[in-house]
Amino acid sequence: MVAVGGVPARMSASSTVLPEKATHQQTRTFNQQLVLRALHDHSPLSRADLARLTGLTRTSVGDLVGTLIDAGLIEEVGRGRSSGGKTPILLRVAPDGRHLIGLDLGEAQFSGAVVNLNGDILRSIHLPLDGRDGDAALELVFELVDALRADDRSHLLGIGVGAPGIIDTRTGTVRWSVLNWAELRLGPELEERYGMPVAVANDSHAAALAELTFFRRPRPNNLIVIRVGRGVGAGIILNGQLFQGDGYGAGEFGHISMTGAEAPCRCGKEGCLETITSMRALVDAAGTLEPSITDEGGLVAAFLADVTGIRRMVLDAARQLGVAVGWLIGVLNVQHVLLVGPVAKFGGDWLDEVRRHARASVLPLLARDTQIEFGHVQDDVVVLGASALLMEQQLGLALVR
Ligand SMILES: [Zn+2]
Repeated sequence: MVAVGGVPARMSASSTVLPEKATHQQTRTFNQQLVLRALHDHSPLSRADLARLTGLTRTSVGDLVGTLIDAGLIEEVGRGRSSGGKTPILLRVAPDGRHLIGLDLGEAQFSGAVVNLNGDILRSIHLPLDGRDGDAALELVFELVDALRADDRSHLLGIGVGAPGIIDTRTGTVRWSVLNWAELRLGPELEERYGMPVAVANDSHAAALAELTFFRRPRPNNLIVIRVGRGVGAGIILNGQLFQGDGYGAGEFGHISMTGAEAPCRCGKEGCLETITSMRALVDAAGTLEPSITDEGGLVAAFLADVTGIRRMVLDAARQLGVAVGWLIGVLNVQHVLLVGPVAKFGGDWLDEVRRHARASVLPLLARDTQIEFGHVQDDVVVLGASALLMEQQLGLALVR
């Protein structure tokens, strides 16, 4: 059972209470989460609406709403239409009732932001990694959090972190990462240093949570979010919950081997999908064709300007990504597939190439019913997803178990 931040709902480990009392508190926490979640997904709502949506009695709802208003987590926003008697007072989650810190520990830079409960980014900071890894990269995480906290000490709910690699979200441990971290207890280290709750997730898993929590209404039951940046990875939502796999590596399909590909991959293998279709691979390949292209901006500009050879090379990589996306669709039959990350800058022609080859590589009936689109958020998708994970763990607003 997770507790509502700031609301006296969680029993302290040292308190001696009767089991019946503990059960009552757990029920109360659960009911608070029901109310918060209903408001998060369907605001604004009256108390009567809440009773109908949650199945709680009006008396219980009135009591819970009072507690949540006192805690600053929800607020009144005027009156709705009357259905006979008095006009009802409408409620919503107070957007600034809590702030939280979201981090995106990317491979080129670390980004962090102060985010509110609406998923609005209030302030953000970007620090270049400059090749740092291991302990030096961890120091940079501290620097980032220190800078964000200096600006906002009030009502911080905690810290959500998205990082590349295999991450045990249960214990906040980075099991392996290209940042040269192995079995790093990142969550506990940050919790101890800053004295607030911390949630840690793989960056592509975080991207899927961002889309699910902030940008998809109604929430799809199943969703695949594929992030193509310096690496390639997917976040998979099944039955409304993030599917992490038995070893937290679900969606690591950037390291499946592609026929005919031989380039060495940073994972130690050769011919991974990532060595063909990631932004890093595309920039490198473009540089051999056109030496003036040295970064993503130059690559995208050359693609859009139809520079000889570049367009074909990028679309050829899109074709291979499409085939791999088709495999995912064939295995999971998920009908909503979103692509996020800097590749979105290539635009519709790139997306069409991915779509065409994804659909061509699965059973036609599955292909017909599957939508492949760009996601809603691009630059901040990991920051928002890490924030969503923390909100779920502290407030029960999303669905991750
Ligand atoms: Zn690899």
